[in-house]
Amino acid sequence: MKYALVTGGSRGIGRAVCVKLASMGYNVVINYVSNDAEAEKTLDLVREAGSDGELLKFDVSNLEQTEQKLNEWQESHADSYIEVLVNNAGIRKDNLLVFMEPNDWYKVLGIALNSFYNVTRPLIKNMLRKKYGRIINVASLSGLKGLPGQTNYSAAKGGVIAATKALAQEVGRKGVTVNAVAPGFIKTDMVEGLDEAALKAQIPANRFGQPEEVADLIGFLASPNAAYITGEVISINGGLYS
Ligand code: NAP
Repeated sequence: MKYALVTGGSRGIGRAVCVKLASMGYNVVINYVSNDAEAEKTLDLVREAGSDGELLKFDVSNLEQTEQKLNEWQESHADSYIEVLVNNAGIRKDNLLVFMEPNDWYKVLGIALNSFYNVTRPLIKNMLRKKYGRIINVASLSGLKGLPGQTNYSAAKGGVIAATKALAQEVGRKGVTVNAVAPGFIKTDMVEGLDEAALKAQIPANRFGQPEEVADLIGFLASPNAAYITGEVISINGGLYS
């Protein structure tokens, strides 16, 4: 049985990634923080895709909780390990820096950047031991270009990109690849409230992307065929920024 963990798998891009990995034969561990009903829906979709999965509810920004849940999972799956990790959970709390409350800075950094440490560290040990692993971090155009009103989010995603490049060099010899994807505007709950008509006029593809398009890219990076790609950040943004 091959296992993959997707953080923030209950909705949006994470859900599409769960379904994609299920279609590739992975047993999918679906992490989320609060939305039980949507997480159950993802699990149904995973099963419809011909595989199986399980829900693992924890806050990726909470180190103790994350380690405890991952340790419990490992103890109950003693002969298995999670060979694909997709660090996808993220939130945004946009504001100009001058108005940004401390909590909006620390919360976004906690969920999008500290989570990389909290989740990756316990899981990478077994990937190194087994000499096979795939880590895919969901960054953002915001982390490459920097976007006004998103200093917190840009900092978190920029940090994830740098961590991706550093870790890839640490573990390359052990058959573990570490890559990031950097989506532009993707149609999920996260972009609700944005002026889609105005924004898409700036995108060469003239539309927002679909979660499934990001999931296809992540699916490739998660596959054995992507063994020679590591330390990369791959943009998926309809030509908005390159
Ligand atoms: P979304 O639809 O808002 O889904 C966010 C997911 O993250 C949900 O599953 C949510 O779980 C989970 N989550 C939030 N806080 C968490 C926590 N503390 N611990 C565990 N899980 C948590 O967002 P999305 O658009 O799919 O975004 C997915 C990733 O893509 C994020 O990292 C985001 O920054 C990145 N991204 C998105 C876009 C875009 O345009 N949509 C563009 C670039 C990058 P609950 O359902 O339980 O709340």
